[in-house]
Amino acid sequence: MRIITLHCDYIKFKPLKKAINSMEDLKDKTEKEVKDCLVILTAIEKGDDDKTVKEMVVSIEKTAKEVKAKNIVLYPYAHLSSNLANPDTAREYLMETDQALSTLHFNVTRAPFGYYKEFELKCKGHPLSELSKEFGPAREIKKGEVIRGNDEKYDPKQLLTQISRSKLDTSKLKDNDHRILGQKLDLFSFNEVAPGSVFWHHNGLVIYNELINFMRSLLNKYNYKEISTPQILDNKLWKISGHWDHYKDNIFITKYEDRDFGVKPMNCPGSMLIYKSSTRSYKDLPLRLAEFGVVHRQELSGVLSGLFRVVKFTQDDAHVFCREEDIESEIASMLEMIKTIYKDTFGFDYRLELSTRPEKFMGEKKSWDFAEKSLENALKKSKLKYKINRGDGAFYGPKIDLHITDSLERSWQCGTIQLDMQMPQRFELSYTDKDNSQKTPIVIHRALFGSLERFIGILLEHLSGSLPPWLSPVQVRVINFTERNVKSSEKILVALKKEIPNLRIDSDLRNTTVSDKVRDAEMQRIPYMIVIGEKEESSNTLAVRKRGEKKPKFGVKINDFVEELKDKIERRS
Ligand SMILES: [Zn+2]
Repeated sequence: MRIITLHCDYIKFKPLKKAINSMEDLKDKTEKEVKDCLVILTAIEKGDDDKTVKEMVVSIEKTAKEVKAKNIVLYPYAHLSSNLANPDTAREYLMETDQALSTLHFNVTRAPFGYYKEFELKCKGHPLSELSKEFGPAREIKKGEVIRGNDEKYDPKQLLTQISRSKLDTSKLKDNDHRILGQKLDLFSFNEVAPGSVFWHHNGLVIYNELINFMRSLLNKYNYKEISTPQILDNKLWKISGHWDHYKDNIFITKYEDRDFGVKPMNCPGSMLIYKSSTRSYKDLPLRLAEFGVVHRQELSGVLSGLFRVVKFTQDDAHVFCREEDIESEIASMLEMIKTIYKDTFGFDYRLELSTRPEKFMGEKKSWDFAEKSLENALKKSKLKYKINRGDGAFYGPKIDLHITDSLERSWQCGTIQLDMQMPQRFELSYTDKDNSQKTPIVIHRALFGSLERFIGILLEHLSGSLPPWLSPVQVRVINFTERNVKSSEKILVALKKEIPNLRIDSDLRNTTVSDKVRDAEMQRIPYMIVIGEKEESSNTLAVRKRGEKKPKFGVKINDFVEELKDKIERRS
């Protein structure tokens, strides 16, 4: 059984002619109008029984009470289903429903069954005014995902051809485009079944995880505590945080047991709740909660573009809860982290922009002045390049944005550090200060990579796919010179793996020329190739060929190679 309930100001309907020949002639064919009513468009399906009718009556009663409707119009509506019960059964069940609802003191009007009718209605348009529901055996089967030949209209084979079509169109992309690199290096793919969401292949996930490992090492160094918060949260939370007012259209909404939930577009509210989960004192501050938070944001599908613009992404997010006097030193250590990541590790040229109090702001001017001064002091002391955008801050606090320039001279906004004097108040966060008074902490939201997906996209294009060894999906490839060297090549692989257990090493022992194999390894941007021939076998050394270099270095001792490699990986150089 399927129904659509519509809470209407009125419905007018008039029977025109029989849709089913066996129907009795109607005596009264005049137009009927019912005002302020709940219209139930109904289709009775095969397999429905008394139990289904009861289920439906309970549901209609519930909706009617919620919207405070006394008048109910039962309106047979065959178009809701392709699995209709036979007309006699359907009419019988509609009459049963009529009786059951009448006993519950509703004024029930039943539109004629088996007739073409003209009708006009005006739906009230509030959130509960339109609902669709299914009852009975057909629904149970859907839950268990059993495909019934008769009533299911889809053909899995045909659907499969549809989704198999989503191949990357490379005709308009440059060779350097990260979407092409992603395909060539087997890093990731997209499929229209999940718009704007990355399918990470193993090689791509290695990069993703290594970036997280890198960030974790910094989180440790700077005394952050890592947390993880739920993906789907009650809409109440978004209303408390303020995201509902400004951001509702971007949130994926879902329902669970008649409650409204949203898939998180940001991680902040989750962090606020963890802060709130116990009483805090000034001794606990600054409390630095970090989260590799996966967020979903609705974007128009037309603007989605590879890893640069996605629906689902991971933020290297953190919320630092602190006192006013901590702001400067907290910002200073965040700027240090930025330098470690962007300059020391990846060699990006970057600049910072400080945005200050806008015309419309919330909070006290005094707190704003203090916060802005603290940010600027930290920037000055860091000796980093920055400029000030006066009046460009958010209404809840000033911010620092990080802009990098890549090898193609393009500018990207990556990380952001955002002071927030409002959200802690909305969540009524507090801590006990030295003098036992209750105070509200300040929150600093900060993400340094920003989105991991986007950062990987930028990095791939910036380096044309030639990632440093610590980030490379395959770090070393062993290549044999001739078939006679297969065994010793395999031995070398095992020996290196033993020295560096986490090493990502593979081998190419195909029966083809060394230059072919080197070319393949170069195409896959593997940083080290080790070629084993007679000379290497007899002297127990390696010929090491680095990515991009014309000639290998001969006679390298295994130990020396291991030390160099270990050092490079550990220092992320
Ligand atoms: Zn946040």
